[in-house]
Amino acid sequence: MTSRRVALKVDCDTFEGTREGVPRLVDIFAARGIRATFFFTLGPDRSGLAVRRIFTRKGFLKKMIRSRAPSLYGWRTALSGTLLPAPMIGARCEDAVRAAARAGHDTGVHGWDHVGWHDRLDRMTRDEIARDYGAAHAEYQRILGAPARASAAPGWTVNARSLEIQEERALLHTSDTRGGEPFFPRAEGRTFRTLEIPTTLPTLDETLAWPELAGDAAQRAFFRGCVRGTEVHTIHTEVEGRSKAELFAGILDDWREDGVAFVLLSELAREALARRDRVPEREITKATLRGRGGFVTTGWPPEPGGA
Ligand SMILES: [Zn+2]
Repeated sequence: MTSRRVALKVDCDTFEGTREGVPRLVDIFAARGIRATFFFTLGPDRSGLAVRRIFTRKGFLKKMIRSRAPSLYGWRTALSGTLLPAPMIGARCEDAVRAAARAGHDTGVHGWDHVGWHDRLDRMTRDEIARDYGAAHAEYQRILGAPARASAAPGWTVNARSLEIQEERALLHTSDTRGGEPFFPRAEGRTFRTLEIPTTLPTLDETLAWPELAGDAAQRAFFRGCVRGTEVHTIHTEVEGRSKAELFAGILDDWREDGVAFVLLSELAREALARRDRVPEREITKATLRGRGGFVTTGWPPEPGGA
């Protein structure tokens, strides 16, 4: 079978990305008859803390400039939570959240304090993780009137404690990790029963930092060629919904022209769970990705000596 499919996972990390990027993406999808899965960050937007690292972490300024973070994300986002107060995303972007759900997209929880989780998860106590994760689910339910059936960890960052807290909810699936097929995660001797569906493709904010892909034509050619079977592609409202919306629309049009179908993560989850006994269990571990700072979680680390 040669059918090629993409599930679009839309991560909403910031106030501006949610307020402006979500409606723009809803329009881009509506014009093409595409449904996607949106994951909302609903607490304080402290993304400006990333900027503070310029002054506290050696090499960060160089990385920030090379990754073009201010032009990708906008200066307001780059300063949010430091020089500017941290806006509460859920409270201030309810309309955008509801509009995405009303337009027929799947929705889930991305987190409460995205920056705090991403930076500190391994130093957070079980109670702190439960409070953060619980606040996001409560706010989601307040805004959309029903419990979330899926979540996606900020920065693809999870550990045994956070998986344990996720497991307490009756989720259909999570999408917390990078690379490989759906699996049941194993960590610190425990196997979890919530299906994990990884992101399989590199993200645009990563490939924009790859020197060999200079210019929109090279980016489009790369994404056009990288859909092999069923892929999960994460996009960021701050990037694909704002500064790179045109490029992203072009990538979608290339895929449509090639007959690529668009599916929801919940559809992939149901497919996998219909053959539950065939879903592998995989130990989670940390990995680095080209074009992305820090670590992400993966259940499918590259084979030693492999490409
Ligand atoms: Zn995110």
